[in-house]
Amino acid sequence: MYKEILAYTSGHSVTLVAVSKTKPAEDIMKLYQSGQRIFGENKVQEMVSKYEVLPNDIQWHQIGHLQKNKVKYIAPFVAMIHAVDSFELLEVINKEAVKNSRTIDVLLQFHIATEETKFGLNKDEAVQLLTVLEKEPLPNVRICGVMGMASFTEDTNLIRSEFRSLNEIFTSLKNQFFVENPFFKEISMGMSGDYKIAIEEGSTMVRIGSAIFGGR
Ligand SMILES: *Cc1c(COP(=O)(O)O)cnc(C)c1O
Repeated sequence: MYKEILAYTSGHSVTLVAVSKTKPAEDIMKLYQSGQRIFGENKVQEMVSKYEVLPNDIQWHQIGHLQKNKVKYIAPFVAMIHAVDSFELLEVINKEAVKNSRTIDVLLQFHIATEETKFGLNKDEAVQLLTVLEKEPLPNVRICGVMGMASFTEDTNLIRSEFRSLNEIFTSLKNQFFVENPFFKEISMGMSGDYKIAIEEGSTMVRIGSAIFGGR
């Protein structure tokens, strides 16, 4: 499936994050040999263990909820953190980025699904966070866009409307806070079951696991 998915995403100029959580390093290495360089993990310890044994030019994306006390383990190497949903977490990422003399790319995670359990901001909370950030800049984090997960459902109309709402949030924040900022450009949405809908609704980055690596 990888080749087909890659053809589809690159045909739409969408970045493919291969979600390798729970899969062994050998599986990642096989995909690496096909040219894939961006991999997504949701557990810090697992990402660190794989980082240590796999090639240096892999770009590791933290896609899951991130606890503040674990930022330090990935700060030296992580390429992008997708799931930022508080100013406090941003402050910790900034502090750890400074220690490592780096700037870390992050996305703001939004709650767009109907399920209760998913993490993420709503639009008002994001406006509040970005307003605070204007007064207290965190120079070593770079906010590159937004991320969200649609409801886990067969209802494609619902999924589509959730992705559309994330796109609208992106556009509105872009206009209010990032007009002159070329880095704020990513909409990370779409997984194995819904990435084609996500791309139709303006996704720039999809996070695909099981359709590439098989079930978990
Ligand atoms: C696991 C995971 C994915 C990939 O899910 P698949 O359905 O296997 O493609 C994408 N995003 C996040 C945040 C995940 O935790």
